[in-house]
Amino acid sequence: MTTSFPAYQELLARLRRIHVLGTVTGVLGWDEQVNLPPGAAARRGEQMSLLAELAHAEATAPALGAALADCEAAGPVGEAAVVVAAARRDLDRSVKLPADLVAEKARLSSEAYHAWAAARAARDFSAFAPYLEKHLALALREAELLGYGDRPYDLAIDRHDPGLDAARIGALFAELRAGLVPLARRIDERVRAERARGERPVALRGFDVDAQRRVARAVTARLGFDYERGRLDVSLHPFCEGSGDDVRLTTRFDADNPLDSLYSSIHEAGHGMYEQGLPAQHAGTALGVAAGMAVHESQSRLWENQVARSRAFWTWLEPEYRAAFPGPLAGVSVDALHAAVNEVEPGGLIRVDSDEVHYNLHILLRFELEKRLFAGELAVADLPAAWDDLCEELLGRRPAHAGEGVLQDVHWSGGAFGYFPSYTLGNMIAAQLWVAARAALPGLEEDFTRGEFGRLLGWLRETVHAHGRREDAFALTRRATGAELGAGALLAYLQERYGA
Ligand code: ZN
Repeated sequence: MTTSFPAYQELLARLRRIHVLGTVTGVLGWDEQVNLPPGAAARRGEQMSLLAELAHAEATAPALGAALADCEAAGPVGEAAVVVAAARRDLDRSVKLPADLVAEKARLSSEAYHAWAAARAARDFSAFAPYLEKHLALALREAELLGYGDRPYDLAIDRHDPGLDAARIGALFAELRAGLVPLARRIDERVRAERARGERPVALRGFDVDAQRRVARAVTARLGFDYERGRLDVSLHPFCEGSGDDVRLTTRFDADNPLDSLYSSIHEAGHGMYEQGLPAQHAGTALGVAAGMAVHESQSRLWENQVARSRAFWTWLEPEYRAAFPGPLAGVSVDALHAAVNEVEPGGLIRVDSDEVHYNLHILLRFELEKRLFAGELAVADLPAAWDDLCEELLGRRPAHAGEGVLQDVHWSGGAFGYFPSYTLGNMIAAQLWVAARAALPGLEEDFTRGEFGRLLGWLRETVHAHGRREDAFALTRRATGAELGAGALLAYLQERYGA
């Protein structure tokens, strides 16, 4: 079968329609979080639900199934085989899930979100538990319908990271845990001793918000985010939406927390540069979409951490940063600024506030508990106690209440199981890409001291972005770095930056 085969052309046209509908939903979703007047929530809900109905109709259209079957019968090869296989997987999922189950999940998620927010404020897990139980039951039913009956958790993972499963992630995470727990404890002891001597990172206060906005835009543009094909706006929680020639980033500004806006902007720009670098001619097919959430997160983390927390990066940015905030930075040395950028907080219980050293311990905890919940080894009612025990094992501290423990994350209220592992897989992939990039591009960090990032972005475009979803995260890492995905590079990176 050649790519001019009529059924293949029909398939591509139909995938394109699904993609375009998705971009409409994406822009409306972005608008909801950035611009929507409070009184327009009901109208937006109606718009979104109509779009969801249209998208479902397109995704399950009999003509799509017919074109796909003709392609499969013709024996696709090369790129067409990648497109056809991914289209089959998506079609089967759309067709096998009954509309009432999809609607029930949407309804439950909306109710559960409000229940979760109230339960978290009241620090009362029992008020949220019934919703979590329903979400878990729905996820298990989905897995049965889609044929993941033996290891239902694998479906939850595969939804975010095609091709990955709990067994392989579990082996990787065990390797990471063995090295990370003792490393984090050593760093905790050192930081506690520093604090006991009165050494603390400098407090950054009173940073003009307009100047922060200009710096965030200038830095992300310099890294390589293309503002001809993107925007940066403000929302409650930073995110990145869109692809190709329309990528929307958001951040948030706080005069007394300037590093949050800067690093959120850089993080989201990392996601955005990946979306801008995907091959536009293949938009809507597996050749033109991201490889999965783990690889996506590797792009945001690489720019945020390996690049923008480095000495070399601050050698370039420091004079411009001082010029933007002359008042609040008067008397703050470059060493003090660099220490604030790489601050470590021993025993921090909140994932989203966590530093690089402790962040992955939070993910190991959530992965282990999700795995036990899906396997029926842990009842929802016993989840808080299991959380607190494992938290003590991994982070060395027990939460004082559910608000800083089991109720802290929004994910489970939307039934988003299997999502957490992608954060840590992303960190592992980023660390491995960083090793490979430095080997391939001699003098790379010298570039950063001059504010030049084009060689790194070019290497990522070629090595990661251009490949779309041809490979899963494991295969992509193997090809891009010449090594199997493992914990070694991340542990070595954390040791190098924080262990000394
Ligand atoms: Zn991210």
